[in-house]
Amino acid sequence: MNLPQFTYHPDPVSSGSVQPSTNTCISCDQARGYIYVGPVYAVEDYEACICPWCIADGSAHQRLGATFIDEDSIGLDAEEELDEALVTELSQRTPGFNGWQQERWFTHCNDAGEFIGRAGHTELLALGVEAMTAVQDATGLEEGPQWHRFFSALDKDHGPTAYLFRCRHCSTLGAYQDNH
Ligand SMILES: [Zn+2]
Ligand SMILES: [Zn+2]
Repeated sequence: MNLPQFTYHPDPVSSGSVQPSTNTCISCDQARGYIYVGPVYAVEDYEACICPWCIADGSAHQRLGATFIDEDSIGLDAEEELDEALVTELSQRTPGFNGWQQERWFTHCNDAGEFIGRAGHTELLALGVEAMTAVQDATGLEEGPQWHRFFSALDKDHGPTAYLFRCRHCSTLGAYQDNH
């Protein structure tokens, strides 16, 4: 079965937010082969029990009152004027991702960016200089020993970790990082 398409989170399996699983979805009561393991904002605890299809069609939000991306986390610098419909699609029908601290979501060209994934120095080297520059800009560090120390410490699984996004309109990469 093909996973649903998420405009702002194109590959939630590679980003680790959706995993192959035999778990039954609490929303549609089916075991469909994949389960969402990212953050769920709801009154109840919903850990690894919502399928990506129920996120995509909004039924998990309707049935459980859950959102998956915190509305207040959208926008790294709060400059963009975002459409209400966009905020709704992101928070109610898009898988979030796990960060060490409160997640944030990059915006650009008056739209949300698509989430590429978590990255450490290995992933950033593979992604190339533009990705490294995006992270360096986010840290505010100048080229020099302090930046190089921070860059070598970046790790996808242990933190500090970088979170990478791409603008859907002009392809600019955006990033932020957390420390632990
Ligand atoms: Zn479901
Ligand atoms: Zn852009």
